[in-house]
Amino acid sequence: MLYPDDSFHRVTDIGAGYLREKGIAYLALDVDNTLAISEHPAPADGVEDWLRSLAENGIQAMILSNNRPERVKPFAKRLGLPYVANGMKPLGRGFERCRRLFGCQKSEMALVGDQLLTDIWGARWYGVRAILVEPIELEDVWYFRCKRIIERILMRSWKQEGQKR
Ligand SMILES: [Mg+2]
Repeated sequence: MLYPDDSFHRVTDIGAGYLREKGIAYLALDVDNTLAISEHPAPADGVEDWLRSLAENGIQAMILSNNRPERVKPFAKRLGLPYVANGMKPLGRGFERCRRLFGCQKSEMALVGDQLLTDIWGARWYGVRAILVEPIELEDVWYFRCKRIIERILMRSWKQEGQKR
């Protein structure tokens, strides 16, 4: 079993001071449930400010996602970050691409993600610091459930309306 080196509630809880203390100047970031709700085009609250404060502290960030380019590219563009899509975590390939783009040593790089089997295992196997965050979606799942129930009700009444006509 491979455990994370550190864990935080949200990415925004990872301070530049902590990173500097650990010698981390390059941060690879998972997207879904780490920076945003899964498949959601907007970053979670505070993420943009957090990225700005990292940059001000000389910490570079990049997106490393297993999701497809159509999801990752517009999201990365919105945040003004370089990205690696189809990252195939936990395999090393995506981590290696990321590190080469950064042009850094493994010891200066960390991966932040919400999944043990992909993000954390991948980071540990590849040999960079592994930082676990709690998946964002868990807190928001009630919202999606409600939304789906409402959508279902609306669809049903819409179909019934259609049959009446
Ligand atoms: Mg994720």
